Amino acid sequence: MSAGQSEAGIVTRFAPSPTGFLHIGGARTALFNWLYARHHGGKFLLRIEDTDRARSTDAAIDAIIDGLQWLGLDWDGDVVFQFARAARHAEVANQLLESGHAYRCYATSAELEAMREAQRAAKLPMRYDGRWRDRDPSEAPNGAPFVIRLKAPREGSVTINDRVQGPVTVNNEELDDFVLLRSDGTPTYMLSVVVDDYDMGITHVIRGDDHLNNAFRQLALIRAMGWQEPIYAHVPLIHGPDGAKLSKRHGAMGVDAYRDELGYLPEAINNYLMRLGWGHGDDEIFSREQAIAWFDLDGVGRSPSRFDFKKLENLNGHYLREAEDSRLAAIAQPMIERKLGRTLSEPEVQTLVRAMTSLKPRAKSTLGLAEGAMFLFEARPLTLDEGAKALLEGGAGDLLESVSSALGGSSEWDETALESAVRRVAEDAGLGLGKVAQPLRAALTGRTTSPGIFDVLMLLGREESLARIDEAVALAA
Ligand code: GLU
Repeated sequence: MSAGQSEAGIVTRFAPSPTGFLHIGGARTALFNWLYARHHGGKFLLRIEDTDRARSTDAAIDAIIDGLQWLGLDWDGDVVFQFARAARHAEVANQLLESGHAYRCYATSAELEAMREAQRAAKLPMRYDGRWRDRDPSEAPNGAPFVIRLKAPREGSVTINDRVQGPVTVNNEELDDFVLLRSDGTPTYMLSVVVDDYDMGITHVIRGDDHLNNAFRQLALIRAMGWQEPIYAHVPLIHGPDGAKLSKRHGAMGVDAYRDELGYLPEAINNYLMRLGWGHGDDEIFSREQAIAWFDLDGVGRSPSRFDFKKLENLNGHYLREAEDSRLAAIAQPMIERKLGRTLSEPEVQTLVRAMTSLKPRAKSTLGLAEGAMFLFEARPLTLDEGAKALLEGGAGDLLESVSSALGGSSEWDETALESAVRRVAEDAGLGLGKVAQPLRAALTGRTTSPGIFDVLMLLGREESLARIDEAVALAA
């Protein structure tokens, strides 16, 4: 890694802590960083902030990487692991110590607790009071443990011209001399982030606005090192539809759950997340290319956005209809196989691909596609749902028998031939087509809803269709 501050070009990063899955808010942060970099022809880097050793897990790292890959948010270069850089972070703390921008603090935890207690009692804000800030090093207790604290400016104020929040000012007296290096020599989060952003040449820090307060402390550190300040953009968090903090009920789940448990396509999630907190006129649906061409921080709003499952579902329906049949079949196949408890044969996979044309228009999720295709592969005797059972037991036997002989006598098995055969049966019985289609659907699929009846006959083929109808005749008799 090089100190890239002199490099021209935009560099953004996504810096998740691997203490859980890639949740939907994190995915949006990653997306905004990715889009901003791609829009400007810059770089998008990935840093795993695994310094909290007790809470960071390999499973979470895998889930984050898998989630980003699934969403197509590709990063440039190698993944940076923060914990591995601890020695470099400590080096910077020591540099600050030498330059007089930091100092050793020997306050014991009992002392600090007493200080906080006094502040609490006096109703003062709780802050480190700087008791070691100006003491001569010779006063240091021999061999006693110490932390290294930043000597933060005490007078004046700092203003961040945040690209989303606008100018935000904090008085320096509100910021205390925070810890850079703990007494065991490990760096704090605040130090690690600043050093890594600098070493990675990050020009734009785009993240959730829960980090805005940290930015002022981080800036004090950046200034103490004389490093170039990044541009900040703190994006409002995502709230639930009721305005409350996003909870699991609202959609605060891992991106993998959106894929596996809800059956969403990545393009639907990307499109939805991009619209969440960012706007381009009234446009609701845009391609990846349009997103890259249009995205800029100026369109990011300042108020928290509300998560709306209905919108996401509608977008998903849109993208399902747009998606290639073979791709959708490949997504649905393992779901179907899991339910069936067996693998699909090659001809069955072909049937599944062909089925997509008639399943897509009504599906809201890939789970729905798989569910809707199940009847194609179920073994006879079919398990009937309640509605189908009622239809067949309601005396449809004669009608289905006529359908069976009409279809069986048809030399061709194509839509035109099938349709005229079924119509003839309906006419002879003095019924509308729908009245014949209903029990026929129940016989062929075991359900009351399915793709169009002639599509179903085509997908199942002659042999299987006739066998299912005959079975239903027997049941109805
Ligand atoms: N690791 C932090 C988090 O997951 C992000 C830090 C940052 O973006 O500066 O919330």
